[in-house]
Amino acid sequence: MSEKDKNKMITRRDALKNIAVVVGAVATTTMMGAGVADAGTMTKTSVQYQDTPKGKDRCSVCANFIAPHSCKVVAGNISPNGWCMAFVPKSA
Ligand code: SF4
Repeated sequence: MSEKDKNKMITRRDALKNIAVVVGAVATTTMMGAGVADAGTMTKTSVQYQDTPKGKDRCSVCANFIAPHSCKVVAGNISPNGWCMAFVPKSA
């Protein structure tokens, strides 16, 4: 095999590596984007979710709440007037 042929092989190998890196980056970005858009995966039961507020704490003033009826950490339909153990007050 000539030196020229070796250089061609290296170039082809490098090109394949670059394609693999790009495909991986796109897949990762897509998965991360989907994660941001999706609601949470914890069950209501596991965080003792209730459809009523706890004192003045409620989903609508929780940092995890996604209007109109979702939550970043809890799965399912979430009432703005609900509450759970994962409540985090929105910062002012
Ligand atoms: S109180 Fe619980 S269910 Fe409601 S938005 Fe916050 S984390 Fe989600």
